[in-house]
Amino acid sequence: MFYNCKDTAVCNYNNHVELLFFKYFYRIYMNIIRASKDLSNLLDSIRRENPKVTIGFVPTMGALHNGHLSLLSESVTKSDITVCSIFVNPTQFGEKADLEKYPKPIENDIELLIQVNCDILFLPGYDQVYPSTYTHQKFELKDLDHKIEGASRPGHFQGVCNVLFRFFEIIKPNFAFFGQKDFQQTVVAKLLAQLMEQAPHIVVTPIKREAHGLAMSSRNIRLSDKGKMNAAFIYRALHQLKEDIAEMNLIEALQKARQFISAQKGAQIDYLLAIDTITLDEVNSIDDAQGVAVVTVIEYEGVRLLDNIVLK
Ligand code: AMP
Repeated sequence: MFYNCKDTAVCNYNNHVELLFFKYFYRIYMNIIRASKDLSNLLDSIRRENPKVTIGFVPTMGALHNGHLSLLSESVTKSDITVCSIFVNPTQFGEKADLEKYPKPIENDIELLIQVNCDILFLPGYDQVYPSTYTHQKFELKDLDHKIEGASRPGHFQGVCNVLFRFFEIIKPNFAFFGQKDFQQTVVAKLLAQLMEQAPHIVVTPIKREAHGLAMSSRNIRLSDKGKMNAAFIYRALHQLKEDIAEMNLIEALQKARQFISAQKGAQIDYLLAIDTITLDEVNSIDDAQGVAVVTVIEYEGVRLLDNIVLK
């Protein structure tokens, strides 16, 4: 078995040398590929050569930070070959201005990907993801796309599903890695995987936080240094809420968290809700669902900051 591998069930190489030889043969010490056909041809030939090879995929929009890197490390550990995509997908942005403001530090991203041993960076242009022959689909998402984030961002999750559908089709990964940070996205991605004939296993990894608690995000670049420090109040509120439900009911705990956040200068609550982790419906009691999480978006210094905590 492949040494240094925690999950032996997914490692199919007899030894490390064999894997290194294999990677060398295909010259994929961080191959940067821009054309979809080139990527699918390369991966197909790798699979032909070794049908047992496992491919891990980490979709991102770039401006990479330790949150992204934790997904990549998970993929590198679990899979023989890791593909990361950087593509700022226009179909999931409502406002053009938001899309244009999105940071694009590609050279730094490439350096970080090399450091975490990513094998392939897929860096497509719009036409490679959505060729003229592609018809945008409307996926049946059991209303998941209209709830919570979907309510304030119409069309967002259909955009997410279209881009994931294309990536899954091009890459045919065994695993796709998503951060719990975007909680609703993980639920939608799992449903999309159920709808597709050939879909990866969806792996969800924990939220990476700054030392003081703020969830890492590419959007944090837009916060001032002071704002970045202050914004730790979001995690403090969520953490406290989780402790409070031992002593008070969920409604009271939510109310207390809302009051705490509203008292922070410049903070505006977009939403702070307790939800069923499968249906995403709002719950009023911890006993209302098998899994319960609190999801929130706080507007602070003009930035929408997403966070969540699983209660059970
Ligand atoms: P993005 O580039 O924002 O589309 O994010 C790409 C992936 O990284 C998504 O699956 C996110 O949920 C995940 N991600 C973003 N921030 C974090 C974080 N702080 N911790 C863990 N995963 C994250």
